[in-house]
Amino acid sequence: MEENVFLRDRKEYRLADYMQIQEKGRENLGAELPVAVYRLLEYSLREELTERFGKEEQIRIFRDAGYRAGVYFAQKYLDSSLELSEFMALLQKRLEEFKIGVLRIEKFEEDTGEAILTMSEDADCSGLPLLGETVCNYDEGFLSGILTSYTGKSYTATEVNCWATGDRVCRFRADRKE
Ligand SMILES: [Zn+2]
Repeated sequence: MEENVFLRDRKEYRLADYMQIQEKGRENLGAELPVAVYRLLEYSLREELTERFGKEEQIRIFRDAGYRAGVYFAQKYLDSSLELSEFMALLQKRLEEFKIGVLRIEKFEEDTGEAILTMSEDADCSGLPLLGETVCNYDEGFLSGILTSYTGKSYTATEVNCWATGDRVCRFRADRKE
């Protein structure tokens, strides 16, 4: 194929670049999509990745992608200069604005950094049938990315309850690595 001169020296686009491009691209349809579209993307991708690479790798990819999203989200929509309670309040507000879910903080130990967070009406799994396993691996990464970005210390969030394990909220335990 002949080289397209307009593509020569094209820079490598990153997540943040693609996020800017979407800001004014949909004058008529607007910025919102039904949850069904989000799940169509998420669960088709999950199925494809699982078939190609196996379940463990699929989970790792979702977590790592969620982590990238969390770091981006924290830098773009949150304010890391806020003290903890204000930061968490802003996070709750943003997650509701973006209709990602309703966040509650059950526990946040400031000295150890250990936290228990719940998300109700979660975009990824609310209404799913009982599957016997947690499915919100993307959210695990997303919360890890946000908390790591805010604290500057490495965080791991693990989902312990989920709609898919028969609960009505997703509950995440977040631990800080010293
Ligand atoms: Zn869940």
